[in-house]
Amino acid sequence: MPTLTIHNPATGQVLDERAADDAASVAAKAGAARAAQAAWAATPLRERLSTIARFRAALVAELETLARTLTLEVGKPISQSRNELNGLLPRIDFFLAQTEAAIADEAVFDEGGMRERIGHVPLGVVANISAWNYPYFVGCNVIVPALLTGNAVLYKPSEFATLTGLHIARLLHAAGVPGPVMQTLVGSGEVGAALLGQRIDGLFFTGSHATGVKIAQALAPRLVKLQLELGGKDPTYVRADADARMAAESLADGAMYNTGQSCCSVERIYVHESLHDEFVGHFMAAVDAFKIGDPMAADTYLGAITRAPQLDVLDRQVADAKGKGATLLCGGHRLAGPGNWYAPTVFTNVDHAMELMREESFGPLIGIQKVRDDDEAVKLMNDTRYGLTAGVYSKDEATARALLARVNAGSVYWNCCDRVSPRLPWSGVGDSGIGLTLSTHGIRTFTRPKAWHLRQP
Ligand code: NDP
Repeated sequence: MPTLTIHNPATGQVLDERAADDAASVAAKAGAARAAQAAWAATPLRERLSTIARFRAALVAELETLARTLTLEVGKPISQSRNELNGLLPRIDFFLAQTEAAIADEAVFDEGGMRERIGHVPLGVVANISAWNYPYFVGCNVIVPALLTGNAVLYKPSEFATLTGLHIARLLHAAGVPGPVMQTLVGSGEVGAALLGQRIDGLFFTGSHATGVKIAQALAPRLVKLQLELGGKDPTYVRADADARMAAESLADGAMYNTGQSCCSVERIYVHESLHDEFVGHFMAAVDAFKIGDPMAADTYLGAITRAPQLDVLDRQVADAKGKGATLLCGGHRLAGPGNWYAPTVFTNVDHAMELMREESFGPLIGIQKVRDDDEAVKLMNDTRYGLTAGVYSKDEATARALLARVNAGSVYWNCCDRVSPRLPWSGVGDSGIGLTLSTHGIRTFTRPKAWHLRQP
């Protein structure tokens, strides 16, 4: 049996070693899930709801242990690991409250003895290949509604968040989800690739654009339902009428929270020229106040870079920006190890010839660009192959909303950023992906509509 060695990215030390899956065990798990799914779907919804409610209670009871594990394996500051777990609870509450209505039969026609109904039936066996940066969020955005709607789940957590993935499965099993209905596949991308070869009815992926494309190509001949939640290069525009200090503090947090390793991190900032210098002053004061260091310390704000290769991406973007004339205000280099560390990095005088304004940085790196007016800001915000989120800071709601209506993004923010709500669909445009999670749409996405034509004899 292969093994997976798990490292602490903050220290480089080995944290754990786990038995990994291979092609044979992946196939066996997929077969067991297939065999068990119908019985799970036939379980009354109220029982599935009670099971997930027990899972929620277990998360609360074990919150501190779970937060510590998450911090140890991904290098996330402990306060932010707790935030992630606490943030998961209202998502679960939303699914618990909304699933019954979302998948109820719909009577859409009744005339002359002919009735038409829309039913919502589970897809069957769904695979969830997931990222490491918010493993509770991105894992459970799929797992919880998929189970509630009667699917079996084959869950491949990122190899960088394996222990958290195993915790999620353990707690679901303890809450009453049958073992074969919820299975975790342990290992690297190869295990994810082996999963694609199984008979599955849906593939729900969260991760990079590059891997998403590989998955889409692998599944294309089999026409499996596919959702891809991918990366972004999320822009924000600070208008001339914005509160510079409020915007700067909010956006510094949006750019650096989770050490910049969020799909919806603020990755590009455009500031009206009249406010630029004041904004940058407040922004730098906010970044200076962020404490970087031991992720286990209560007051740490910036933790480790989870994947070592990302350090090369950051170095490359920094060198490219410097070479093209950007002004480096802070950082721009790795910090001494052991472990993977990068100094918070802020550039001004940037433009779209630079990689850091075009490609996902996925780290504590941000460029701030001066703009002349609203039209230039909108043009630059849309000058991207991505489209996950975008924001405008302004006192004027009507103008901000009119600008945001012109921006191609799945989610738009007025005077806020880096925010996800269980009540709203989470989706991307362009290279940020296809499909969605969350909201009632993100419940129904784990079902397929079944059309009933019923004629009274
Ligand atoms: P990756 O694309 O590297 O990995 C995602 C998952 O795919 C992992 O479980 C990985 O396994 C697996 N995988 C890798 N190769 C293959 C393959 N050939 N076939 C099947 N599965 C494979 O992304 P990261 O985990 O590094 O996540 C970061 C990315 O995720 C960023 O781009 C970020 O923006 C995006 N993201 C998007 C979100 C959204 O909602 N839109 C939310 C969160 C993150 P392993 O890790 O073991 O290699």
